[in-house]
Amino acid sequence: MKLTLKKKKQETSDIISLIFSSDDKINWVAGQYLHYVLHHEPTDDRGSDRWFTISSAPHEGFVMLTTRFDKVKGSSFKNELNNLNEGDIIEVSDLDGDFILEDLNAKYVFIAGGIGITPYRAILKDLESKSNNVDVILLYANRDSNFVFKDELDHLAIPNLKIKYIEGRINIDDIKNSVSDINDRIFYISGPEGMVDSMGEALKELEITDSNIKQDWFPGYD
Ligand SMILES: Cc1cc2nc3c(=O)[nH]c(=O)nc-3n(C[C@H](O)[C@H](O)[C@H](O)COP(=O)(O)OP(=O)(O)OC[C@H]3O[C@@H](n4cnc5c(N)ncnc54)[C@H](O)[C@@H]3O)c2cc1C
Repeated sequence: MKLTLKKKKQETSDIISLIFSSDDKINWVAGQYLHYVLHHEPTDDRGSDRWFTISSAPHEGFVMLTTRFDKVKGSSFKNELNNLNEGDIIEVSDLDGDFILEDLNAKYVFIAGGIGITPYRAILKDLESKSNNVDVILLYANRDSNFVFKDELDHLAIPNLKIKYIEGRINIDDIKNSVSDINDRIFYISGPEGMVDSMGEALKELEITDSNIKQDWFPGYD
């Protein structure tokens, strides 16, 4: 599938969304991801391909990729991605992913670490567009106060959505203090690998069963 870059949107000082159009119809479910290949020279040892969540919802009519650019230790891939210009065409493939909502009658806790907010933006925009008033508590932790998508999230018309912003690392007490009915909810965790693993362990300490935990690991981040 070919994507054409339509627009670059600076979300924070180091996070950019790339907005693409597609000639082929891409039928994705909110929360899924695509495989990107960018051939470039020289390519560092981290390689020329990556996976990125589609941070837009299907009804928005465009594919959005939202990512962090590390000015000091960034990869050659990210450098190439950052250098794309409006009108450039890239190749994507392998639409996939089960980090999606399956039961609209269940109650959820979404835990996001930094850029791990991307699938939740897509899922929540999708719920809003379908007027699905799903009961969701979003616990969104970020290294500083520059929460990507904060304005959009705060204006979502989903009455049963509660959002707690956490500056710094999320911990087990944040969950205990924000979720009174932990045994009645399904937990989704998305973000850097270490954060997703440690939150998974924290939920097990709270005796949440494996079947009520879904994880989405973003490799390559500290
Ligand atoms: C299913 C899935 C969905 C994903 N969705 C997203 C998404 O929506 N947005 C997103 O941003 N990412 C997403 N990712 C992660 C993405 O694919 C990249 O792995 C991630 O963005 C890091 O990119 P990068 O390796 O180019 O590192 P960069 O972002 O360029 O650099 C990040 C950091 O990597 C560290 N680093 C890691 N390895 C090395 C190394 N070998 N040498 C030197 N430094 C290193 C450095 O400390 C640097 O600070 C997803 C991954 C998966 C599997």
